[in-house]
Amino acid sequence: MHFTDLGIDTRLETQLAHQGITQPTDIQAHAVPTALAGHDIFAQSKTGSGKTLAFLLPAVQRVMKQKALSKRDPRVLIVAPTRELATQVFTQLRLLIAGTNIKAVKILGGENFNDQIKALRNDPHFVIATPGRLADHLTQRSLQLSGLELLIFDEADRILDLGFTEQLKMINELADHRLRQTLLFSATLDHAQVDALSRNLLKNPKQIMLSAANEQHSDIKQSLYLADHLDHKEALLEHFVKQDNVGQCIIFTATRADTTRLSELLLSKGLKAQALAGDLTQSKRLDIMDAFSRENFKILITTDVASRGLDLLSVTHVINFDLPKHAEEYVHRIGRTGRAGFKGTAISLVGPKDWPSYKAIKSFLNDELEFHTVAGLTGKFKGLREAKPVAGKATSQKAKPKAKSVTKRKVKPKQPQAPIKAPLNIDGDAPMRRRKKPEQE
Ligand code: ADP
Ligand code: MG
Repeated sequence: MHFTDLGIDTRLETQLAHQGITQPTDIQAHAVPTALAGHDIFAQSKTGSGKTLAFLLPAVQRVMKQKALSKRDPRVLIVAPTRELATQVFTQLRLLIAGTNIKAVKILGGENFNDQIKALRNDPHFVIATPGRLADHLTQRSLQLSGLELLIFDEADRILDLGFTEQLKMINELADHRLRQTLLFSATLDHAQVDALSRNLLKNPKQIMLSAANEQHSDIKQSLYLADHLDHKEALLEHFVKQDNVGQCIIFTATRADTTRLSELLLSKGLKAQALAGDLTQSKRLDIMDAFSRENFKILITTDVASRGLDLLSVTHVINFDLPKHAEEYVHRIGRTGRAGFKGTAISLVGPKDWPSYKAIKSFLNDELEFHTVAGLTGKFKGLREAKPVAGKATSQKAKPKAKSVTKRKVKPKQPQAPIKAPLNIDGDAPMRRRKKPEQE
């Protein structure tokens, strides 16, 4: 099958061929003609399956070939949950529109507000934005959406998890007209919260569900290792990142502080590592991602700020130093490897504190995730026992007898499992609570 069979212009097809992209992926084969036919779309397919082009191609095709509803307002708005992902989508769009007169701007948190106002005055056809800053421009009326034709949410469920319900409502209302088309994409859309959103945003959507959110990814080899305590995790980490088959590697930690601590630790062992966390300045964040994508360093240590969407084909390994609390984030984190048909390895370290997350992930994936051991680095922790409810009494969970004396650091009695839908604590573009005046030049 060719892209032209899907209704895509030969010019775009040639542009894709320059990038070595000749055959549509499944999601592209389904979504492109559906979007071109004018339908709203609710689409779920695996990490690394080509969702970006599945929405960019019909969007560019539309802007190239169809008359605009408005001369001034943007025709396409793409919302992505983090600055890094929005930047990546923007880069991919720029390749597609190179040599045309189509204009695109990127509106991200952490960048100069006035520069963005100027860029918006230039009447771009495409706006790619993170939700917090987008909402600021809408409130200040530096961006109008009454002529918007295509509204696209990449990683739609994550945008909701970040608590942008009000902002989404505002976008929905400002771009509310009969001809607006809306597309939602993610690898994990099929949960209740998204249902409510999609009912408000979408009109008679076509559902394109190519795989279940919890389906195994055949290109990602997953393995788990039990760890007694922090020192044990660090020893395992060093062991794994030093393996010969590691190309580039992304390590996920629970906190920003851990990203810095681990990068210092790995640097002290002679490994090229850098920490990326949401509290860094925007230009530093972009520099780090740019250097990583150029393979200037081998190991990126980050939080869930980088769990979604990032596409770096030389990432051979993902290591969860801590497990994420949200089972869906596990799917997205490991999906930073094994992309576009390449094979990848995902390694997760599971200590006593990770046990509730491990249980949640295991139950989400309907699967016995397998534990492995490393010779010479086997610990004593063997997992925590299930809490058995005792009539009339609250129970606390205890370690199995076998694991009783194992942990060097004492394990506190376990807290009840965190609800899977607790608010995410990624340090990206949280909604602004107080409206800032645009910075003066
Ligand atoms: P997703 O959003 O589904 O996680 P991406 O859109 O980031 O996936 O695409 C993953 C990788 O696959 C990217 O490097 C992209 O360039 C590549 N890709 C996309 N479509 C194709 C295709 N039709 N043929 C080959 N590679 C593709
Ligand atoms: Mg994507």
